[in-house]
Amino acid sequence: MRGKDDEYDYLFKIVLIGDSGVGKSNLLSRFTRNEFNLESKSTIGVEFATRSIQVDNKTVKAQIWDTAGQERYRAITSAYYRGAVGALLVYDIAKYLTYENAERWLKELQDHADANIVIMLVGNKSDLRHLRAVPTDEAKSFAEKNGLSFIETSALDSTNVETAFHNILAEIYRIVSQRQLAGGQPETEFSHGTTIEPIKVLPTQQEARQTPCCQNI
Ligand code: GDP
Ligand code: MG
Repeated sequence: MRGKDDEYDYLFKIVLIGDSGVGKSNLLSRFTRNEFNLESKSTIGVEFATRSIQVDNKTVKAQIWDTAGQERYRAITSAYYRGAVGALLVYDIAKYLTYENAERWLKELQDHADANIVIMLVGNKSDLRHLRAVPTDEAKSFAEKNGLSFIETSALDSTNVETAFHNILAEIYRIVSQRQLAGGQPETEFSHGTTIEPIKVLPTQQEARQTPCCQNI
């Protein structure tokens, strides 16, 4: 039986990418469970976690995928990106190299993800003010240059974590709902020939029974 938690108007797959240690898993646990872990437990990665929010009186369910540490070896498979309509590209504001590597992660997205994927550049660990190595303005202009939205967050003290996820989900919602209006189709094509149906790549039985993404129900 489907409980209230399973009722939603839209299901969006979002992927977390960026160097190891930047706080991806903690952003996920902060947003979906309001939890933070001081230790890095990269091996105990969940495949994804979900949380629903309201946008424009619609229930938008985010299915947020986390790596299990494969990013260390740049060994993320294309299945990870398949069906994703949004990506949070995370770096650590106290580690310049993780910011420099954002360029490589963008390339990875170009190679593996949908061409229209919505990308948000996220400077995490904003609580580490005294250790800041990446100026906000520099990251902001890099984001502008590459057509990304930008935000600084702290999974530790919760700053902007809600806002980051809300903003990217609202942005995706706007794109998808406008296309539905324009095309009048219940199923939205995110880019030519690619229908958003993350359900097809879901690993668990339970989730696989859910309503296909992006249909009005
Ligand atoms: P991942 O490898 O990108 O998934 O990073 P993790 O979420 O495992 O975090 C790596 C380390 O950074 C852990 O020790 C976390 O406690 C720490 N961390 C994560 N987010 C923050 C943050 O916002 N502020 C601070 N100070 N530490 C953080
Ligand atoms: Mg992790």
